[in-house]
Amino acid sequence: MAHRGAHFQRDYSKRQVNLRALIDMDGVLCDFEAYFLEKFKEKYPDEPFIAVEDRDGVDVFICTSPVKAYKHCLKEKYQWVEKHMGKQWLDRILLVKDKTMVNGHLLIDDRPGLNPYPSWDHILFTQSHNSRMKNGQRRLENWTDGSWKDLIDEYKKRVA
Ligand SMILES: [Mg+2]
Repeated sequence: MAHRGAHFQRDYSKRQVNLRALIDMDGVLCDFEAYFLEKFKEKYPDEPFIAVEDRDGVDVFICTSPVKAYKHCLKEKYQWVEKHMGKQWLDRILLVKDKTMVNGHLLIDDRPGLNPYPSWDHILFTQSHNSRMKNGQRRLENWTDGSWKDLIDEYKKRVA
């Protein structure tokens, strides 16, 4: 607890607030799993998967809601992250039923209609179940066309 507090105090005492990007798992990070990762690695063989963590000024967290039948769910989520993103990402998993309880600048999530009054902007990740919704909400269509980089850069400027 002391370590965690020191971390946040250090960041804010320097008045350097990193952009905090929250990324949903189901339907966003791991929906395409094998297919997507294979294609991504073909297209960008030298780039690590979702390389934003390494970008200066951006803290990326995986923000995911467990199902109530958690017995296998929690283990599978951790296993997926370790397998596909690496052990270093295990400390960046936020398991929370109500994502509005998490503090961040943006949340990329495929679920429309999240609870009101979050601290973050909800960027709707397009999936078949929400693709026809026209509510004017900002979207991220996919991870492959590079538009996520523009999104992150835009938000980095906002918090700078
Ligand atoms: Mg989801």
